[in-house]
Amino acid sequence: MRTHRAGDVRPDDAGSTVELCGWVAARRDHGGVVFLDVRDAAGIVQVVVDPEQVEGADVHHVRAEYCLRITGTVRPRPDGTVNPDLATGGVEVAATTLEVLNASEPPPIPIDDRTSADEMLRLRHRYLDLRSARLQRNLRIRSRVNNAVRNAMDAQGFVEVETPMLIASTPEGARDFVVPSRLSPGEFYALPQSPQLFKQLLMVGGLDRYYQVARCLRDEDLRADRQFEFMQLDAEMSFADGDDVRAVISEAIRAAVAAVTGEPLGDIPTLTYAEAMARFGSDKPDLRFGLELVDLGEVFGATEFRAFQADAVKAIRVPGQGDLGRARLDALIERAQGLGAAGLVWVRVRDGRTLEAPTVKFMSEAEQLGLVDVTGAEAGDLLLIVAGARRMVDHVLGTIRNDLGRPPVHEGGLHFCWVVDFPLFEEIVDGRPVPAHHPFTAPHPDDVTLLERAVGEELLSVRSLSYDLVCNGWELGSGSVRIHRPDLQAAIFAMLGIDDETARARFGFLLDAFKYGAPPHAGFAFGLDRLVAILAGEDNIREVIAFPKTQSGADPLTGAPTPVDDRHLRELGISVRAPKK
Ligand code: ASP
Repeated sequence: MRTHRAGDVRPDDAGSTVELCGWVAARRDHGGVVFLDVRDAAGIVQVVVDPEQVEGADVHHVRAEYCLRITGTVRPRPDGTVNPDLATGGVEVAATTLEVLNASEPPPIPIDDRTSADEMLRLRHRYLDLRSARLQRNLRIRSRVNNAVRNAMDAQGFVEVETPMLIASTPEGARDFVVPSRLSPGEFYALPQSPQLFKQLLMVGGLDRYYQVARCLRDEDLRADRQFEFMQLDAEMSFADGDDVRAVISEAIRAAVAAVTGEPLGDIPTLTYAEAMARFGSDKPDLRFGLELVDLGEVFGATEFRAFQADAVKAIRVPGQGDLGRARLDALIERAQGLGAAGLVWVRVRDGRTLEAPTVKFMSEAEQLGLVDVTGAEAGDLLLIVAGARRMVDHVLGTIRNDLGRPPVHEGGLHFCWVVDFPLFEEIVDGRPVPAHHPFTAPHPDDVTLLERAVGEELLSVRSLSYDLVCNGWELGSGSVRIHRPDLQAAIFAMLGIDDETARARFGFLLDAFKYGAPPHAGFAFGLDRLVAILAGEDNIREVIAFPKTQSGADPLTGAPTPVDDRHLRELGISVRAPKK
């Protein structure tokens, strides 16, 4: 139907006749001549319609978002009307024929102007929002990323295998979405939170290297970086350790970055969990900026200053902020207290690196000198110090570090890192450890004895062979070396309080499979939505998903979720209690 895409017309085309199809993005009627900005997937071009000259439809009836077909001659724009912001800004198309392919009602949202339309309206008319340059661009980036990671996995000998959507519960720790079974009334399938168990079975099945661009579903509260359903690049490999998995995934990430930015991504650095917590106070450190946490244990080891007689004393040095006003400092103290600290000590560094703060008088001269030395403080800097239990101190300073330093999503480049050796357990609840990753994660070989002996809180220092991929402070994905021996798996289930009967009922098939020479294996999964969002410079993953849900899990476009009719429910053996108002 066309010779060119509207957005592809260039000065080189001047003099030639083109046929274009697209939508009316804007219309300016200059009494006599009408200017139409015609938009298609490639962009926008200006079309000039002189009603005296043009054949076909009457341009005076044409309105915004009408779908048109235009034949015309490309010509350079007159001097002074060139638009350097448009790729087509040097030219315009003088129409010779105008055909209305379809009329449009007045659009309920402005297409390319985000600020003025409410989100619900936009989502209800998502098909119109999708016409915007921003979503067009983002979905194209997404497609390039999908392709790049697929090709990278393929090139590394991985086999794409599709795993089922209707399954029994998977153990990722979130709530399952369930689907009632008609043939077994009263019973339910779960939608997969991940292909975890199946990919491990594929390893037992000798597939050796598996990957899948997998849809995962988790019934968790929605946030800017979380939707009910999301896409993962999911992978598993046999006879491999964490280094092997990280090398393979790093390749896929490099391919995705190159496909979007055209720039090569160098090696991805690796930090241990302990190091990430110590230096950045976070297991997803944003490496785009400094403000690292500094341990003051040596300086205040024997201090008389009560507030610093603690498990840990740490600081961040904020360069050039020595003059921060009292109100801002008070806000920081409040923030620290809100995060669980007893307080926050601030110190201004003055000329000659002397210190100024109401608390300085509680520090000995040696301590003051030590503080300046260890933090590397310069005149004009501000020091923020927190003391207390180490976990709390890291958490508080890590959060304040992000508050003070974190650039917007599209600034500061791409700083990926691997965080390895995560704790095996995240917390102890009712005397039982809760897995930090999932119950199939192998303990760190150096900590196996500790695992056997530790009780209570001690268990929290047992490390595992699990790892996360982080970019610019976002957790992109996680994975681990798996337990492949049934005896160790049974022991871990026992520690987690999953008794034999429950283990058999939920994962019996996996334990059975492990009896038949299960190979050592390891894997990983990363969220494609998040990766695409970062690469597109978006901080809400909704901007890179064609049909996202709202914060409350609704889809204003289709109306989901909706009730189903009684006959359907009866077939499923389900009766619905009236929801509590
Ligand atoms: N199944 C895990 C997840 O979705 C990833 C993995 O361990 O491979 O987080």
